[in-house]
Amino acid sequence: MRLILLGPPGAGKGTLADRLTDRLSVPHLASGDILRAQIRQGSDLGPAVQKYMNSGQLVPDDLIVQVMISRLTQPDCAAGFILDGFPRTLPQAQALNGRLAEVQAPIDMVIYLDAGEQVIISRLAGRRVCPLCDATYHLQTMPPAESGKCDRDGADLQARPDDQPQVIRTRLQEYRRLTEPLLEYYAAAGRFVRLDGNKDIEWVYCQAQQVLTKTFSSTDEP
Ligand code: AMP
Repeated sequence: MRLILLGPPGAGKGTLADRLTDRLSVPHLASGDILRAQIRQGSDLGPAVQKYMNSGQLVPDDLIVQVMISRLTQPDCAAGFILDGFPRTLPQAQALNGRLAEVQAPIDMVIYLDAGEQVIISRLAGRRVCPLCDATYHLQTMPPAESGKCDRDGADLQARPDDQPQVIRTRLQEYRRLTEPLLEYYAAAGRFVRLDGNKDIEWVYCQAQQVLTKTFSSTDEP
């Protein structure tokens, strides 16, 4: 199953992908997490991408395409993947399409999580992440067991630098300008489903499961 999750920051793509990755037995590839890992590991790419990420702008297409295509060629992606945060521009989508056409492994489904600005802002403002493992929490809706500590490794949780109000505004502008055109692109390609990302994760997960089960017959069920 090769799945793309589209939607603005804070729509719940990462949370849904975390749930679906177990159900579908394919890896969750979050482009933001992959870039943050590069920064943490001190890779050559780190300084170049950090300034874009901290200001809420997208990193250049060539760079992210190279990173993500190389990730997609890893053996754990042989049976499929869930893409979260990539592609984010038309050139990225076209590059991805080209690569998948080469290996005759097209995208099976695109799920678009639509969410309103107020919901997005409140989700991002309350988001806390683990600096070690990228696990994500929310102060109100998904708090850790022990306040301020990651459930997995006990590290101190932090707000992401790009979850500050001014940076959120830039990210939403970038989303509207560069990512929204992808909705039409993938809708025209078929197997495109919109879900209401304003609703809570249980509802969204349940709807996503229903869509996947209904779309894929027993012979090619995900
Ligand atoms: P995210 O964790 O998905 O919210 O991404 C955080 C930041 O990483 C974005 O604001 C961008 O700076 C960068 N980024 C992640 N994915 C992409 C992408 N597909 N294209 C360009 N920049 C990206």
